[in-house]
Amino acid sequence: MQDRVGPSGVTQHEGRSTGARPVFSSLLRGAAHKCPACGKGAMFRRYLKVADNCPNCGEALHHHRADDAPPYFTIVIVGHIVVGLVLAVEMAYRPPLWVHAALWLPLTVILTLVVLPSVKGALIALQWALLMHGFDPDAKEEMGTGFEATLPEASPHRLDFRS
Ligand SMILES: [Zn+2]
Repeated sequence: MQDRVGPSGVTQHEGRSTGARPVFSSLLRGAAHKCPACGKGAMFRRYLKVADNCPNCGEALHHHRADDAPPYFTIVIVGHIVVGLVLAVEMAYRPPLWVHAALWLPLTVILTLVVLPSVKGALIALQWALLMHGFDPDAKEEMGTGFEATLPEASPHRLDFRS
């Protein structure tokens, strides 16, 4: 495939942009649910479903391995906000427990749903900026499950119980 220059000036090679990948601005783009390469295309095609390629510049985004890191960081962030607020309100007003339940349960759900895609976007942008997984332009296309290399070959040291 030929190199091409995308609409935003990003040079592409086989669906992967080349050139500088500034970490901080990529993080901001990802947190805003935008493609880390061009900052314009939407990273998600549904709520948490990452687009295979950026709809604006064509950057391949399917290489990400966000896995369970976004929920993990979301729990850390939302937990610190909500627990801090719970303690502050309890110290200031000492409201009955039903007020706590009425305040913090919906806030926790809403914050989680708002924060999760931004955290996922930022993590994918970080993987892109650091050339992790398949985001490296020089990387071979990832094939299979990745477990093939760990399957044991027929080993000369294998015990043979037949003798
Ligand atoms: Zn893009």
